[in-house]
Amino acid sequence: MFGIKKKEKNRVLFSADYVYVNGTHKRKYGVLTENGRIIETGKREIIREQFPFTKEVKFDGALYPGFIDSHIHLNMLAKTFEGTDARNFATTNEIKKVASSIDGEEVHIFNFDFNKATENEWELLFNNTNTPLIVISSDEHTVFVNRALLNKYEIAVKEYEGGVVAKRNGKFIGILKDRAIENVRFIIDKPASDESIRKAINYLLSMGITGITNFDYEIFDKLEKADKNKELKIRTFQGIKCKLLDDAIKNSVKTGQGGTFFRIGPVKCFLDGSLGSQTALMNEKVPFNGMQTLTEEEFQQIVKKANGNGLQVAVHAIGSKAVDMALNAFSKSGKPEMRNRIEHMQFISEDDLSLIENTEFIASMQPAHYKYDKNLLQKYGLEDYPHAYDWAFLLSINKVVAFGSDAPVVPPNVPEGIYTAIFRENEKNITLKDAVRCYTENGARANFFEKEGGRIIRNMNADFTLLNKPLTEDFDSERIKTIATIIKGETVWKK
Ligand SMILES: [Zn+2]
Repeated sequence: MFGIKKKEKNRVLFSADYVYVNGTHKRKYGVLTENGRIIETGKREIIREQFPFTKEVKFDGALYPGFIDSHIHLNMLAKTFEGTDARNFATTNEIKKVASSIDGEEVHIFNFDFNKATENEWELLFNNTNTPLIVISSDEHTVFVNRALLNKYEIAVKEYEGGVVAKRNGKFIGILKDRAIENVRFIIDKPASDESIRKAINYLLSMGITGITNFDYEIFDKLEKADKNKELKIRTFQGIKCKLLDDAIKNSVKTGQGGTFFRIGPVKCFLDGSLGSQTALMNEKVPFNGMQTLTEEEFQQIVKKANGNGLQVAVHAIGSKAVDMALNAFSKSGKPEMRNRIEHMQFISEDDLSLIENTEFIASMQPAHYKYDKNLLQKYGLEDYPHAYDWAFLLSINKVVAFGSDAPVVPPNVPEGIYTAIFRENEKNITLKDAVRCYTENGARANFFEKEGGRIIRNMNADFTLLNKPLTEDFDSERIKTIATIIKGETVWKK
């Protein structure tokens, strides 16, 4: 008797106007859960009749499987809570204002669009600001530091292969691109405070996100500790730095290890830079050179080693040549069951179409990058590139595409991402059902989580995102709001 009563206590019926089950919005539906797991779904009235005494949480709105953002930089996102967001800054004058309003300390500025300033302006900022200053572009592939910052840390700027140290008349003007960012990497990679990390996680939960792949390794220890103290509030699949592959293997670290909230994710490597900093590595003739960070041979060895030791690989490849290298390495040296991932995959060469069909991989893509990169595509004459940001093509040949944001590069806004993907022009639009799948089921698959989450069906975790209204084919992403975020049956965020 008592046993049954106790069980009843942990049973909760979640019901909502709409529940998203198997790609359709079910009206007046219910999801019966027990100890944070789904045990039944069906018409709310029918479940209610069968379980008249079960506690019910009744929602107005639409209940979705918890959204998974498969590409997050959690440390950088947390640090944006400590610095200044320059997304709306139009000139370097605004940077100067921020820098001069703070005395003595160090100023960090994020999300500045470097295309908005001239070399001359940077040179002035470099020499004429007294507060140590660091400015990071929204795609994090370009960084500006001033002389005061170099002095503070006694940095003698070095050249790096695969990087740019910007000079004017032979003199450094403060701009570092890609590998050259190594000069100040220790400043950028400093872990954010626990408080900022908490804020960042709370922000993600407020956006309806229940799970993330976090590629910022710097806060691994902090997140692991928070998890041990039962303080980690979002499911985190934690990436491992490529450089640490041998260490990881030595310590028998494997993808998927961990508990409810903190698990080992993929090993993260880079093959090229970004479009915004003109360092994406392309096969085609483009007005920039691109940058290659690993040779094909080196990367193949990494894939072989990682996969052979139970580690998934996630590789940053934006340009078509980088994507080609990733595909080759996965097909030659990868194990299909390790679900190797290509992060971004923004450009695909026509020559690679059959290689794509015949290679096992997961495409981890960010719809909002397309939205914010449109002007860059135009600038570099790439607006008619046949397979740019082409999740539609990849889905059409049954590839697993997992969506994410790359936050803080772009805001972690799932409805906006879905909107961008379904209203894409030039027949590259995908269905609402597919777009939702890329943020749920496919995200789960990319993180080896599909047996536990990503869908509202029996035996899955009760991870839900409650929106104020259902996403329909004609929704307005600005009117869609998250009302509650639920993980394992617990409400972890509420409006
Ligand atoms: Zn990233």
